[in-house]
Amino acid sequence: MDLIVKQVTKSFGATQALQPLDLHIRSGEFTTLLGPSGCGKTTLLRMIAGLETPDSGEIWLDEECVFSAEKGVFKPVHKRMLGMVFQDFALWPHLTVYENVAFGLKATKQTNGMRERVMDAIEAVRLHGLEQRYPNQLSGGQQQRVAFARAIAVEPKLILFDEPLSALDALLREEMRAELLQLVQSRGLTAIYVTHDQLEAMSMSDRILVMQGGKVLQQGPPETIYNRPTEPFVAKFVGKSNWLKPDELMIRPEKLRWKEQTGDMTWPAVVERVSYMGDRYEITLRLDDETIWLAYHDRRFQAGDHVAVYASPDDIHSVRP
Ligand code: ATP
Repeated sequence: MDLIVKQVTKSFGATQALQPLDLHIRSGEFTTLLGPSGCGKTTLLRMIAGLETPDSGEIWLDEECVFSAEKGVFKPVHKRMLGMVFQDFALWPHLTVYENVAFGLKATKQTNGMRERVMDAIEAVRLHGLEQRYPNQLSGGQQQRVAFARAIAVEPKLILFDEPLSALDALLREEMRAELLQLVQSRGLTAIYVTHDQLEAMSMSDRILVMQGGKVLQQGPPETIYNRPTEPFVAKFVGKSNWLKPDELMIRPEKLRWKEQTGDMTWPAVVERVSYMGDRYEITLRLDDETIWLAYHDRRFQAGDHVAVYASPDDIHSVRP
């Protein structure tokens, strides 16, 4: 399902949560809205879902206008036929796994072949055998799977995720990331995923929209966002950045070398701090009074060591819109 957002805005009193925004999400794409707290990503997702009314603009799902301020169109949430998965799972505590998954089908009156559809969704999330349990008899990961099952049981063309993994611990989160992506891809769903976690965004998405202050600053595939940020904020929010000229010229830490190659630029530095990360050491370097960089190495340095780092001029990125 294609989603088109045209000139949509939203304010809450004096707070402009979303500045005029245009967006085209293509069928089958996994798109992530990435940004810090308060940047407007949840507000945008809720307007797409029909849980919030925009102040202006239009929203289209394929050929159908589901919201238009000008034409007075507002299709309510249960008629948009979307799947939704939230951070807090939003399961009914008094309903079993089966009943929770069936809930969405009943609410939208899709009761034909309901048992098969519910069981198919439960199997897809690997909860077969647990249908009669209540949410409080499940682990956090299992509860999140019930929420996925409920969202896919209605066979939505578009599925919306609002920080669905943030209540889980780091290891489970990584596992569920892969599972969720596999589920979305195998069912050919179009997905919009809200997160403030850049690693999650990079590892899952076909396309990332980086937002700040109610605005989309840059959108593109994860590789473009990381390698060719067009705004200083994007360079700083996605990955680590070393600045040759503040907010203008940047190099990523992994591009710094410890041995010189022909044509390299050189920067003498003093080791300020060393952090062991398991797979490498993160070395904080002081280049001068104002400039602190980060570099990676497979051996430990001592604070105060005098070193030099090198890089090819080709790896220096000019940050420009
Ligand atoms: P988070 O990651 O913390 O959830 P977010 O990027 O999803 O943040 P939004 O929840 O969309 O941000 O909020 C955007 C702005 O709108 C914030 O300044 C927020 O305080 C404000 N806002 C959101 N909902 C309301 C509301 N119902 N009433 C008043 N202000 C709101």
